[in-house]
This record gives sequence, structure tokens and C-alpha cells, in this order.
Amino acid sequence: MIIVQKYGGSSVANPDKMKAVAARIAETSKKACVVAVVSAMGDTTDELIALAKQINPMPDGREMDKLLATGEQASSALMALALQAAGNTAVSLTGGQAGIITEKVPSKARIRKIDARRIKQELDSGKIVVVAGFQGITDNVSSADITTLGRGGSDTTAVALAAALNADKCEIYTDVDGVFTADPRVEPDARKLDSISYEEMLELAGQGARVMHSRAVEVGELYGVEILVANSSKQTPGTLIKKEDANMEIRNPVRGIAHDTDIARLTIVGVPDRPGIAYKIFHGLAEANISVDVIVQNVSEAGVTDLSFTVTNADLDKTRHALGPVLKEIGAKDLVTDPNVAKISIVGSGIRSHPGYADRMFGALAEESINILSITTSEIRITCLIDKEKVKQGIRALHKAFELEKV
Ligand code: ADP
Ligand code: ASP
Ligand code: MG
Repeated sequence: MIIVQKYGGSSVANPDKMKAVAARIAETSKKACVVAVVSAMGDTTDELIALAKQINPMPDGREMDKLLATGEQASSALMALALQAAGNTAVSLTGGQAGIITEKVPSKARIRKIDARRIKQELDSGKIVVVAGFQGITDNVSSADITTLGRGGSDTTAVALAAALNADKCEIYTDVDGVFTADPRVEPDARKLDSISYEEMLELAGQGARVMHSRAVEVGELYGVEILVANSSKQTPGTLIKKEDANMEIRNPVRGIAHDTDIARLTIVGVPDRPGIAYKIFHGLAEANISVDVIVQNVSEAGVTDLSFTVTNADLDKTRHALGPVLKEIGAKDLVTDPNVAKISIVGSGIRSHPGYADRMFGALAEESINILSITTSEIRITCLIDKEKVKQGIRALHKAFELEKV
């Protein structure tokens, strides 16, 4: 039996926590072969980013990846040392040594394939294998570069390894008891879910519920890996992310609320209203690997219009940089950035078949005098862009309006 376990940054933040996690891994290794994926300790990744920006405000992607990958390399080696100190045989591997091959896209590389031979060899020789999360390598040869998978990417390392190894279990251990109806650190009435479908988890994660990296959920769905999310410091059942089941129909059509305050809205003022302009703007951003969301084009007056969209704060400088030449070319008047916005979303597969959910969502926000700046939807999600300061109030209102505190 093979079990893949992932431990997040706060679960390995200091030597005592490392030792406690090592004890859990060692316990599991009595009944199964264990591959443990670890994140960087505590806030290491944030600290490395801040350090790089002090030295170079527009750091090169390749060097950033190399720098950030060290966080997970250190924690994986330390975890192997903690396991060895407690009398276990263990070996740590970098993402590259674990055979994780990615595309050559700095800071958000996707996994192309996994050559799991080295991991299998180590498991066969009776070792616990500790893999540095969040990273890969672009090729098997010496010309290869180290890449990282995007913030929160250790989850994706774990699920992808579980798929490649055909593991019996994939467990994501973190600092909360599982997936809740809203971020439990923001909404005190949030309730832990016993299970959630891939589709719903994907939407929640995509809209800011950082308890799971959305690409990890995507990989899980694609390869049929059930993912358990549970607390690293307790023995509680957690939440199982899996295929939608029949019982899922007789529960609340709304499963959860996600929020994202880590975004900014950009408005391009005075855009000529002609065919091909939106293509020019968004093609440039796609080329630079920037994901945009909540795109709104205003009604045009005298052949010009304003175009707004959101990006993550991490992509903000890169977006401004990428837009510079395009805006000159199309003759836009100005580029305005508004950092005081946030997204708030309701998610649930029942939304698809129950009309009136948008109505209830807007009503609940209106009652709190929360202004909706723009709206986007998917089949199972409604997202509103609102003032960042009102986000907590908005979550409270929606959690109540959709009776999410009830089982
Ligand atoms: P790790 O370091 O273990 O990867 P993260 O900080 O990435 O942990 O994710 C866990 C955090 O996700 C929790 O502490 C919680 O504040 C946040 N979170 C956001 N939305 C949810 C949700 N719906 N359910 C549980 N946790 C959530
Ligand atoms: N250390 C990385 C981050 O902070 C990856 C992870 O924790 O999953 O984003
Ligand atoms: Mg995480």
C-alpha cells in the first residue's frame, strides 16, 4: 500500500512541529509505504520573495524559481533528518530528483509528466521518501531549469505523485480540520464538510479558498485520486474531495463561500471600441502567462470605452509591464489600478438547477448596503466584485442567507 501525505508550511513551521509531523509519518509507515510532500517552513516563501524584491524590484522568473525552490528543499531535508533521528530510514528528494518534469514557465509551471522510478526504488528499499513540494525541473538533462508550480503548489505535487504512483491514499494535512463552508478564520459559523465534489472544490479554490491549490483538484479529478483534507495536529476525519454522489442532491444547493482579497482591478481608460482591440490587450497578457478575471467593458461613448478586469496582486507589476506597449499601440488614455476590491463567491452544484440564487445573493448583499461592482458566473458559481473592506460583512451575510451553518 502506498500513501502520499502532504504537510503545509504552518504544519512544519518550527523544529517541534517538524518532529511531531515526523512522528505521524513514521506511524503511517508501519502499515504502508509513505511518500511525504512538504512545503517550506512557515512564511519562508513570503520572506524569500520579499528578500528578492529588496535586491531587484522586477526579479527574473528563472532566478525566482531557483530561489523559492530552496524553501521546500530545506524543509524536505530537515524532515528526512527528523525521521532519521527517530530511528527511521528516510531520504529526501527535490522535485527534479523525484522525476517531476514541468513546462518551462517560471513561477506557475504545470507538470508535464512524472518519472516515478527513483521514488519507487527508494520505497522498494524500505525508505520513507520525503519530496520537496511546489517544484519540478524542465527536463531530465543538465540544461534543465528548476521551476515552481505557483503559490500553494505543494498540494499539486502531492496529488500528481499520488496519481503517478497509483497510490492508495492521498492526504493533505493542514492547519484546519478540513474544507469548511467558508474560511473558518473569517466566518466563525463556518461548518466543516464531510465531503465535497471535485467540481465544487475547484470553483472554491479558484475563487480564493486557499485550503487547496486548484490545480491539485484538477489533477485529482482527471486521474480519479480522492483527496482527504485534514488537520496535521489532530486525529479528525477531515473532508474527502471526490466524485459527486447521489446524496449530494439532498443537501443545501450552495456548498460554500469563497473570498479573495489578494486581487487588484485594472481599468484601461479610453479604449477605442473596434474589433480586435480586446484581443490585442488580452493576447499580450496571455502571452505573459497572466490570468485575468471579472472582465467588464463599459458602454461606449463616441467610439471609446473603458475596460476593467482583475488580476492577482502577485501578477500586478507584470500586468502593468505587459500592458505598456499595447496601450501605446491602441492609443488608450490611461491605466488606473484599484487595490481596494475583493471577490466573494457562492459555489454549489445545486445552483445549476435552482433558479433564484443570484437574486438571493444580491438581496443579501444589498441588505448590508454592499455595492456590487461587477458580477461573473459559471454554471455552479456566482461571483461579485465588492469593496475589500466589506468582505467579512459580505461573507457573514451570505453564510446566513444560504443557511450554511445548518447541517
Ligand atoms: P497549508 O500551509 O497547509 O498549505 P494554507 O494556508 O495554504 O495551508 O491553507 C489553509 C488555510 O486555508 C486555512 O488556514 C484557512 O484560513 C484557509 N481557508 C480558506 N478557505 C477555506 C475553507 N473553505 N475551508 C478551510 N480553510 C479555508
Ligand atoms: N511554499 C509555497 C507557498 O508558500 C508552496 C506551498 O506551500 O504549497 O506558496
Ligand atoms: Mg496551501
